[in-house]
Amino acid sequence: MEEKKRRQFMKQAAGLGVLGIAAAGGIWAAKDFKMQKGRLRPPGAVPEEQYLSMCIKCGQCLQVCPYDAIKLEDIDGKAGVGTAYISPLERGCYLCEAFPCVLACPTGALDHEANVIENVHMGMAIVVNESACLALTGKKVTNEMIGRIYDHTKVISAEERRNRKVVVHNSDPEKVKLQKELLVKLSEKEGKSCSLCADLCPFEPDPKQAIGMISKEGGLFPEIREACVGCGACVELCPTKVLQILPYATYADVYEKNKGSKHA
Ligand code: SF4
Ligand code: SF4
Ligand code: SF4
Repeated sequence: MEEKKRRQFMKQAAGLGVLGIAAAGGIWAAKDFKMQKGRLRPPGAVPEEQYLSMCIKCGQCLQVCPYDAIKLEDIDGKAGVGTAYISPLERGCYLCEAFPCVLACPTGALDHEANVIENVHMGMAIVVNESACLALTGKKVTNEMIGRIYDHTKVISAEERRNRKVVVHNSDPEKVKLQKELLVKLSEKEGKSCSLCADLCPFEPDPKQAIGMISKEGGLFPEIREACVGCGACVELCPTKVLQILPYATYADVYEKNKGSKHA
């Protein structure tokens, strides 16, 4: 499956002119990223061409997703009207145990083998706006920055959204609990130095295999590592849009191939 996905990415990337513009160290300029138009698909998605024919637009994956991460493509959308996708700037995937979205898919457009994290590969995180990273300049996470995530969390009340504060109740349905727990973790970061991307990466058993903060230019900066599965949680949580996901790309596609190449 991995090899097929790699080939699919290479084909897409070549068609879109992505290859050859990547930067040393895997840092991509935002203008370059805009050229990659492919959608981020839910976990286990088969290669894009197959996915477009296998996704029957039933919305089953979307209904079981406890994070409200999955959407269906609009008529004027980017690829395949009605097909399921994830828009990580609005809501990333949180790599649920047993991947309910995958299990709910009736056609195998989300490969049923992808019910464990080892078999999931959605894409690869990339840096698109390095200078905006708060950790690099030691800036703190503000209430307004956190507010963006409260604003797009659907399961909380208007008051909780306004106050940017939630309390998790035992009686809350599981979906509400999970989303509130995320907001609690986020709020704990208010007023502190930012490392949200690395701290809240849901990769298991150890997020440090996927992302970690390293010293850079007198500050800190996230380093994307080999185990990243491209879930997009870091993209959603980053207050300043430093990161994005290249759908279907692998670590080798982005980071190993471009070692030593010049920034475009
Ligand atoms: S793994 Fe969970 S959060 Fe991710 S898309 Fe599937 S159901 Fe949603
Ligand atoms: S670094 Fe972590 S949160 Fe970000 S895309 Fe990779 S696995 Fe997901
Ligand atoms: S979430 Fe990560 S990339 Fe974004 S500002 Fe914070 S440390 Fe930088």
